[in-house]
Amino acid sequence: KCGPDGNFSNGEILPFGPIALSPSAGENAVRMKNGSDRMCMPAPSVEQFVDAVKQTVLANKRWVPPTGKGSLYIRPLLIGSGAILGLAPAPEYTFLIYVSPVGNYFKEGLAPINLIIEDNFHRAAPGGTGGVKTIGNYASVLKAQRTAKEKGYSDVLYLDAVHNKYLEEVSSCNIFVVKGNAISTPAIEGTILPGITRKSIIEVAESKGYKVEERHVSVDELLDADEVFCTGTAVVVSPVGSITYKGKRVEYDGNQGVGVVSQQLYTSLTSLQMGHTEDRMGWTVQLN
Ligand code: PMP
Repeated sequence: KCGPDGNFSNGEILPFGPIALSPSAGENAVRMKNGSDRMCMPAPSVEQFVDAVKQTVLANKRWVPPTGKGSLYIRPLLIGSGAILGLAPAPEYTFLIYVSPVGNYFKEGLAPINLIIEDNFHRAAPGGTGGVKTIGNYASVLKAQRTAKEKGYSDVLYLDAVHNKYLEEVSSCNIFVVKGNAISTPAIEGTILPGITRKSIIEVAESKGYKVEERHVSVDELLDADEVFCTGTAVVVSPVGSITYKGKRVEYDGNQGVGVVSQQLYTSLTSLQMGHTEDRMGWTVQLN
């Protein structure tokens, strides 16, 4: 098999670069632990988790695309199972990691995405499971996402379920709003996923002199922003070209929809991930 862009060939052992487990695989392990506590499941320890990721990647070296041509997507999963009818935590658990080569998310480099705010759908409610990475969370976004895609949008931006006014996140990424030298992103208060890329980008942005605020960010601020971008493992840093809200479309100028700040942060993070710049953050782990 090959990646979606067909950039690498079947079975060939390819040059194997550093893998970015930012800001250390421990962050992902801790997030799984928090999620598994919420789901009444046992979780592997940080050491077991990190070791399993390393072993899985090494055992699948042949599928690692050459630097710049794509990535080896790593998905650790904890599954509950067993013979039980009632509503109760599962009696048995399986921890598995699957990997898949993927091409670059955007073949032409950075490309702006067009989001719609769907205020009839909510992704998470206070006290719910929105703050942890559990598969059930994705059930609530399927319909909204499909409807948005049918209308030509890239994805849906969700608002908080209490006021229907503050930004939460997109179906599978976190959101940032740029105004002047300030970058704002919704605070982690239990309804949005604490993205590892979100955390990395906050550190990278601060190291570049931006003022980063984690707080409530309103739709009005979003529509008045200079630039908007999303972050996630798959999308890395993804500039937002337009937002549609209550039938009105706001476009962000930038350079063909790619703002200066989004471009700068994207370049910084990907250069670090690919080993093109020195990793002063200690986020990358060399496996061979
Ligand atoms: N929010 C949601 C709902 C997600 O599924 C993801 C992707 N994992 C993110 C945010 C971004 O998180 P990360 O940067 O850890 O990939």
